[in-house]
Amino acid sequence: MKSKTKYGLPNKLITCKVCVMTNQKPHSINETKNKKNSKKKGLDFNDDGICAACQYAITKKNNIDWSFREQTLENLLKKYRKNDGSYDCLVPGSGGKDSMFAAYLLKYKYNMNPLTVTFSPIQYTDVGWKNLRAWIDIGGFDNILFSPNGKIVKILAREAFLNLLHPMQPFKFGIKTFAVKEAIKNNIDLIFYGEPYAEYGSESIKTISTPNYSQDWYEGKNKSAFLGGKDLSYYQKKYNLKKKNFHLF
Ligand SMILES: [Zn+2]
Repeated sequence: MKSKTKYGLPNKLITCKVCVMTNQKPHSINETKNKKNSKKKGLDFNDDGICAACQYAITKKNNIDWSFREQTLENLLKKYRKNDGSYDCLVPGSGGKDSMFAAYLLKYKYNMNPLTVTFSPIQYTDVGWKNLRAWIDIGGFDNILFSPNGKIVKILAREAFLNLLHPMQPFKFGIKTFAVKEAIKNNIDLIFYGEPYAEYGSESIKTISTPNYSQDWYEGKNKSAFLGGKDLSYYQKKYNLKKKNFHLF
């Protein structure tokens, strides 16, 4: 019997020889392009049956010249470091291990003065809240916590769940765009996001040496972004919302 899969995920199940993750694990994608019927990609495998995340782990161990990478980082920081007490870089994060660690190294190892910003999730777990407070109180960072309009967030999360099976999708828009908006507001020209998608196999090994986001990731091609899998006119009509209700996303 031929089994059926949803969202265009692969029909034949493969598991990674190293970590046993399956090829049905969806790729992280440019969410501005994510629509209900767009074909979703699964985790990539090489001919030896090893998943992209494990390939990246091997690459990190064997194929990256870390002292060259550090020198490149030093040169970058030198260009942006400020010594007048103002913030010289911005680290968006929720209190998870990647953004916390990046902020910690920037401040305590590389003598930078990072501002951390947080775009609130729909609901905090006790552990999530504790982690965020630990970042601020124990890590010793200034943080701007922003909580978007709960009524709008609920609508978007529901639509994203129904259309994409991905209720966190609007939140992913928020965490990216909020960082940029706050950087501009605070006159900061350098932003460090957390771990690259390659860590969990959602990015090609070939592009990881230039881990930058293009403008495309923030607004979609020709400024036609989809939110929760739908364009803005859908929300304007169905929920009688205005364009200004979406400026954060
Ligand atoms: Zn693997």
